[in-house]
Amino acid sequence: MSILLMTASAALMMISAQTAALDGAISPEVRALHERVLTLDTHVDIGRNYATYVLDPGQMTSAQVDLPKMRAGGLDAAFFIIYTGQGPLDADGLAQARAHAEASYQAIDRMIRSYPDQIALARTADEIEAIHATGRKVALIGIENPYPLGLSVDDVPMWAARGVRYISMTHFGNNQFGGSSNPNLAAGDEPEDPGLTDLGRELVRALNDYGIMVDVSHGGPLTMRQAAELSRAPIIASHSGVKAVLDHPRNLSDEQLEIIRDVNGVAQMVALRSYVKANHPELASAQEAVLAEMGLETREARAAITDQQRFALTTRMEALHAQYGSATISDFVDHIDHAVQVAGIDHVGIASDFDGGGGIGGWMNAAETPAVTAELVRRGYSEVDIAKIWGGNLMRVLREVEVAARD
Ligand SMILES: [Zn+2]
Repeated sequence: MSILLMTASAALMMISAQTAALDGAISPEVRALHERVLTLDTHVDIGRNYATYVLDPGQMTSAQVDLPKMRAGGLDAAFFIIYTGQGPLDADGLAQARAHAEASYQAIDRMIRSYPDQIALARTADEIEAIHATGRKVALIGIENPYPLGLSVDDVPMWAARGVRYISMTHFGNNQFGGSSNPNLAAGDEPEDPGLTDLGRELVRALNDYGIMVDVSHGGPLTMRQAAELSRAPIIASHSGVKAVLDHPRNLSDEQLEIIRDVNGVAQMVALRSYVKANHPELASAQEAVLAEMGLETREARAAITDQQRFALTTRMEALHAQYGSATISDFVDHIDHAVQVAGIDHVGIASDFDGGGGIGGWMNAAETPAVTAELVRRGYSEVDIAKIWGGNLMRVLREVEVAARD
């Protein structure tokens, strides 16, 4: 039977079967260790229609993260992300950005309110532990790109009250707060990072005041350094790799890792293929051929994709990644190893970027999370080290940020 003819539920069963097969490869000792440590993923995007009847996180869905997958994979906590792509700074652009951020927040809030017996919002490190102790999953909220804040930082207290605990300085393209690691030259950005703007400096101070972690992932090198210098609390890179393993603008140099170490911050290594390992030169054209064959070449067609098509597409893309030797868990843990070598075991963590482009061979959804722990064990990390990498370090930073916040 063609994969295209499979029903969504058949595809779901196939995914569950794959997950079960993979789980079988994890030794009981590793699984037990994985269950003992608190696992916190600092970057989970929410797809279109998240927490609606179309995509109900209480069910096994086509998303990489939902409650059944978190349970299956022993993923205890995740930052769910309010992401807004960079647009123009005019009234229209800002109004759209604000509406988009509001809709994303509402989706996360709907998930939490729909399943109070399964997941709860944490606003502090203590709450992360308290919720975890009740056996429920922990939801945290991060904002990727503060573009929706507009031309002031007046909304920071509102987002803080809603539970947002990190905000990045930028996304792709410079914004009103600072320079991006990936300036948008077509939109007129200079190639050199201009650094934090006056409003960007105000933002860092406001985040400090309201107990929100300053996130430098996606930030340009100068913006990143200035944010680290200005912040009176440790900073984080919520989802980045290291340049020493793959020289990519989104990845951190050794100097940046040292800055993060020196301010007692944490760099969360990201499991996004093209930041982990260079893609095979023929992969892109092979992917385009599959999209064309499935009638999904246009953005519009992809926006209207059905669950069934999505499963078929995912399966075919995974086959291509395997064929062309794309990034796997082992490649991903190379980034962790290097970050630990340079910054130290107290300054490294993990982010999937699931449902935002993340996923690597062996860790393609939350259900496969024990495989990451298995690779860390294989590399010789102790349980204490693994607990730090899986969330302990991030929680230490969050506590310091709470203390540094104004009374
Ligand atoms: Zn990102």
